[in-house]
Amino acid sequence: MLTEVLPNIYSVEVPLPRSPLRAVNSYVIKAPGRFLVIDTGWKHEECRRAIMQGLQNLNVDLSRTDFFITHVHADHLSLVAELATDSSTVYFNAPEMAIVNKTKPEAEERWRKFRDVYHSHGFPLDEMAKATPWHPSQLYGLRGPFSFHILKEDDFLNIGDYSFRCIETPGHSPGHICLYEPKQRILISGDHILDTITPNIGYWPELENPLKEYLASLDKVSQLDVDVVLPAHRNIFYDLSGRIAELKEHHAARLSEILDSLDGGEKNAYQVAPNIKWDIDYPSWALFPPTQKWFAMGETVAHLEYLEALNKIRRRDNKQEILFSLV
Ligand SMILES: [Zn+2]
Repeated sequence: MLTEVLPNIYSVEVPLPRSPLRAVNSYVIKAPGRFLVIDTGWKHEECRRAIMQGLQNLNVDLSRTDFFITHVHADHLSLVAELATDSSTVYFNAPEMAIVNKTKPEAEERWRKFRDVYHSHGFPLDEMAKATPWHPSQLYGLRGPFSFHILKEDDFLNIGDYSFRCIETPGHSPGHICLYEPKQRILISGDHILDTITPNIGYWPELENPLKEYLASLDKVSQLDVDVVLPAHRNIFYDLSGRIAELKEHHAARLSEILDSLDGGEKNAYQVAPNIKWDIDYPSWALFPPTQKWFAMGETVAHLEYLEALNKIRRRDNKQEILFSLV
């Protein structure tokens, strides 16, 4: 589906088969002689077909097209490897370029760390064996080395009548960047702020306290004067401050669910996770597909790390297992 959302800004809906996210919005901005594509989709046939169709309908010439990638997740990044031409500039952020451009042994080491951490938080090895091969970054992730043009806070990206300022918004991922158009009060929010679904805040080897960073990034964006938000998933929306308030409430509620579950005694993260109310269409934790359990685990760990830093809970390392209890 292709929609002109603002003058010369088009949204191409790129389906994500079997993902609860359903689709990613790829935004295409047309300017005389140049095009900018923001986020792309998985390296997957259905994504490829949808975006190519959209670009063709818009008469986009890929040899005159640049790309801006909001963050490292495969549904935003990976297809750019096929779309970018020799004359394209691919704009990205430094912390996540370091992840993409790891050598194969470094990338394997990073995955090993992930699995070790999840296992020490109680994630069973048999479920892990089912979850990780289906993880989008394993199925569709981009392997470097890949050449990017790195953007950082307050850098500008100009295209046609639009002049976007980069706003670093770590939390959902280590180097996530939103684009803000101050004159026209547009925010291209990536996965930092979505309207009807809540961005996943998970475990990252690169971040000590992702939820703390995420909440700080929400505060940062709440200072901006914004009339319209263009998110990477689901619909465009207008009430940015209302949505930020809801997202903060959502995390506050989740933190209190975790504190309640620890009221019953010491637990590892895997034992805490089923006590959280998840917005997902499965009747019980036991019926979650392993990959969704994996995401839920990351989210649980991020909230536990946040509570630990606030001194509301304490961590005990019991040989290979990490246990949490109320202070
Ligand atoms: Zn994401």
